Amino acid sequence: MTALLGVKALTAGYGSLIVLRDLDFRVDPGEIVVILGANGAGKTTTLRALSGEIPGQGSIEFDGEQVGRLRADQRARLGIGHAPEGRGTFVDLTVEENLRVGAYHRPSAEVRPAMERMFELFPPLRERRGQAAGSMSGGEQQMLAVARALMGAPKLLLLDEPSMGLAPMVTAELFRTLAETNERTGTAMLVVEQNAQIALSIADRAHVLEHGRIVAAGTAAEIRADDSIRRAYLGV
Ligand code: ATP
Repeated sequence: MTALLGVKALTAGYGSLIVLRDLDFRVDPGEIVVILGANGAGKTTTLRALSGEIPGQGSIEFDGEQVGRLRADQRARLGIGHAPEGRGTFVDLTVEENLRVGAYHRPSAEVRPAMERMFELFPPLRERRGQAAGSMSGGEQQMLAVARALMGAPKLLLLDEPSMGLAPMVTAELFRTLAETNERTGTAMLVVEQNAQIALSIADRAHVLEHGRIVAAGTAAEIRADDSIRRAYLGV
């Protein structure tokens, strides 16, 4: 199969600080791939280099095109959606306004039906459509961040710590919705998560990042069965 995302020798960081070294990985169409790793391993940096928020060296091929030199908005137009760490919703805008922002590059006739689909996937957002994002609970804002990224109809959704700050039940519900969205729409997902257990439960494959390098990779089942990974990331 031709990869949707093919990353080769990706090196990136901040100024003179090199965080990622020579990363190689791929995401196939429709796949859910997880990146696990300790604090500071470079997970967020990986997503930022892919979305174009920070520059990187190496090759990033997306949907048959080299995108490594494109700006973030150009990559978004090609189908790379990013739900950044810490929610990143516009707190003063309403739920509906936030969702419209996510669809800024789509024809206006598509916005209303897309919003309707988001309300089906995330029913609490429908109830709160006229409410300022900043006045909602953490879980609702996290849902909004994911829904806003999906409004851009991405082929690949980059998700940074979707469970952050959420109660276990809300996290479980959000991951169920992600799996359902993936099944219904075929949207591929690259998910960075501290909560390895829940991330692996919806993933096809996983990579483990340590100090900016991939040190293990396999199917979700293989990663879950690996003793050293279980001890380091699954708390068993
Ligand atoms: P966490 O789970 O804590 O977010 P992470 O694996 O996502 O960890 P990154 O946020 O990618 O890790 O950070 C990797 C390294 O890059 C860390 O050493 C961090 O201090 C550094 N770093 C992150 N953002 C910046 C920045 N804007 N400027 C300079 N250094 C940064």
